[in-house]
Amino acid sequence: MLGLKCMEKKPLEELKGPLGGGSLPPDEKTKKETLKLLRDLMKIPSVSGEEKKIGFFLKERLAENFKVKVQKVGNRANILAVIGKPKLLLTAHMDTVPGKLKIYEDTNFVYGRGSCDAKGTIASMITAAESAAGKGLRDFGLLFDVDEENNFEGIKKAINTVKPEFIVVGEPSSMRLINGQKGLLQLKLTEEGKSAPASMPSAGKSAINSIVFDIQSLLKLKLPVSRYLGKTTLNVGRIEGGKAPNVVADFASATVDIRTIGKNKAVIRQVRKAVGKAKLSVEMDFSPVFTDALELSRKLGIKTGVMPYFTEMYFWNKLAKTVVFGPGDYRYAHASSEKIQKKQLLNAVRVYFDIIKSSCSI
Ligand SMILES: [Zn+2]
Repeated sequence: MLGLKCMEKKPLEELKGPLGGGSLPPDEKTKKETLKLLRDLMKIPSVSGEEKKIGFFLKERLAENFKVKVQKVGNRANILAVIGKPKLLLTAHMDTVPGKLKIYEDTNFVYGRGSCDAKGTIASMITAAESAAGKGLRDFGLLFDVDEENNFEGIKKAINTVKPEFIVVGEPSSMRLINGQKGLLQLKLTEEGKSAPASMPSAGKSAINSIVFDIQSLLKLKLPVSRYLGKTTLNVGRIEGGKAPNVVADFASATVDIRTIGKNKAVIRQVRKAVGKAKLSVEMDFSPVFTDALELSRKLGIKTGVMPYFTEMYFWNKLAKTVVFGPGDYRYAHASSEKIQKKQLLNAVRVYFDIIKSSCSI
């Protein structure tokens, strides 16, 4: 992780204004092909755990132009496609969140599950890579992994099999070059009590009362704020506890999701202090990420920015310099109104092509 001083980072509220630079937009044939490919990808449901079919589709498609490697992850697989010795890796996840949505389109948008997160990105990356390969560019690769929306099983395997010098993670970034993201901390609090009949609560000790008290303390915490990554956010996403309404609860737990902007350890200390005697276990602990993308930003004529959501940038950035870039507005990802703007989808083909061209040899 690099220090703050050498970064060009924009606060979230500054993520607006025109995008520029790059080469000419893709030709009509490539545009049609990208939209067709997106529709084909969306027709294959691929909720995390059920990516076998889409993996097979991607393998067949990529084998037309690239050397393809299938990496098994349980009963599904990551698909790696390379040409030459990859210095650059374009990668995106092939799984989606659950919830089937109707697939349709109008003049400006394509609607449906996966359109924005992240099948639009996959379609743009593939047609850009095919154009680049057709023009004789080599030494780059594509990797489409599984389980990103669940437990990151795909990337945990993939990361040991490639050694690129530069990585672009495709996620909806509204066409911004993302060089920073918040960290992710999931903490589970557990309280133990003493059961007693509900008619005599004073004979027991309610773990539910304790956990409610803990949650109230957590919601009052003053968590760190960063000029670039914004506020630390806290969400109590799950509470469990008790056996029956007529019994004083001897057990209760709460799981808290915190999106961090600084040192995770400092936040854990704050939480520990706030919850007193509750047992605290760390379920997930991923630090925020910053990387230097000034040179690429200048080359592409695209401004850098940071995003509040967690991506596989966290893992890739340990291996090589990583940025996030993709078509689509992340506010529509995971939503029942999921959609992607066609203009962004097609402009992304041009940007991915330019990235390949600027980092790869002929
Ligand atoms: Zn995604």
